[in-house]
Amino acid sequence: VRAYALRIGQVEPKVKAYVTQVRDSALAQAEALDRKLKGWRKTQPMTGMPLALKDNLCTEGVPTTCSSRMLQHFVPPYDATVVARLRQQDYLLLGKTNLDEFAMGSSTENSAFGPSRNPWNLHCVPGGSSGGSAAAVAADECVAALGSDTGGSIRQPAAFCGVVGLKPTYGRVSRYGLVAFASSLDQIGPITKDVSDAAFLLGAIAGHDPLDSTSADVPVPDYMKALKKKDVKKLKIGMPREFFAEGVDPDVEQAVLAAVDELKALGGEIKEIQLPTTDAAVAVYYVLATAEASSNLARYDGVKFGLRAKETKDLLELYMKTRQEGFGPEVKRRIMLGTYALSSGYYDAYYGKAQAVRTLICQDFAAAFRDVDLIVTPVTPTPAFKLGEKSDDPLQMYLSDIFTISVNLAGLPAIALPCGFSTTNLPIGLQIIGRAFEEDTLLRAAHAYE
Ligand code: GLN
Repeated sequence: VRAYALRIGQVEPKVKAYVTQVRDSALAQAEALDRKLKGWRKTQPMTGMPLALKDNLCTEGVPTTCSSRMLQHFVPPYDATVVARLRQQDYLLLGKTNLDEFAMGSSTENSAFGPSRNPWNLHCVPGGSSGGSAAAVAADECVAALGSDTGGSIRQPAAFCGVVGLKPTYGRVSRYGLVAFASSLDQIGPITKDVSDAAFLLGAIAGHDPLDSTSADVPVPDYMKALKKKDVKKLKIGMPREFFAEGVDPDVEQAVLAAVDELKALGGEIKEIQLPTTDAAVAVYYVLATAEASSNLARYDGVKFGLRAKETKDLLELYMKTRQEGFGPEVKRRIMLGTYALSSGYYDAYYGKAQAVRTLICQDFAAAFRDVDLIVTPVTPTPAFKLGEKSDDPLQMYLSDIFTISVNLAGLPAIALPCGFSTTNLPIGLQIIGRAFEEDTLLRAAHAYE
């Protein structure tokens, strides 16, 4: 903890990965743990691990802001289930990491507290929305971190920062205490330095939780065991033609194709496959995610949580002023888009249609997974972009999520891991997608490759 505290002191002024730091209490807890564990060697995987948590995960007694003015002073009275599980294992919390406000964005530039920076190049974004978590791991400001992924928010920042990010199957990890963005898509997962850390951390947080009705009652395998094989023999690996189309940066394409060659050398059978609905994924996502967000964010009305506007003459003005002052421009844009998509007269044309196409996307994946065990793609079309480059063009920003979004729509697990560098010296990520609840196969392939 001391080493990490020192490191945070050195680099945090430049990287700005954290919204809230609790280094002192981590140190006190570590000392207490040292006294408690003296001579006792049998600890649990996360015992004593200095971790960082994305600031949309509720932590009892520690502010949970979602990088929004709306929740700037919100201190949850309870822990998210993932946090409670880590606490049972005596993990150590170093702090809460920056994100795009309410996890809406791909660069952390939508944070009400200012952007985080990419440790590889401080002029570039770390990605988002779990940009603070990825930057903290990449800059050695923690051992590992948790993020959340609704449309790529774990994998894209992991790729931009040259670390490992795993989005579990929908339902694998409890969402209880994760501040909801789009409930049918959100999943919590690890951001780590390597694949074995991701396996450890997933094992620590996964499993059924009665407090989340969408959490799945499916046994959690020993993920560390999955790492023993160190090859991909007998695995069929699909390459979707649609993911290697125009618009992919040549450096990214080259690095991913080289990774595919390596998977072949490790014993994998490479097959070309088709996922024809890929081009609809971004449109479907931005209808469904904004629709769900508009409903989830209705609770921030100045009455129960967080900010309450002052000097309002009646209840309606209290609602209006609170939301006007509390939400940033991207959140407002999404609430409006989502409310429109759900409004009577437009519901069938937008929300209903998007749900129908979501089913087609799921069917595409189901058909592909009858032929192959894993699917490999780039994580992003380009390496990390410059701060400010896309921030006034929301559509450009949305399109950068093209390779990660369909995975959330289909509820599948996927991992992002480093597979090389661009000519501009920025990390490039490889995405491996698996069948539902087969994180072990994902981890095995990723570990064999890394
Ligand atoms: N970048 C996507 C968005 O802006 C995904 C965000 C996420 O996964 N939380 O919605």
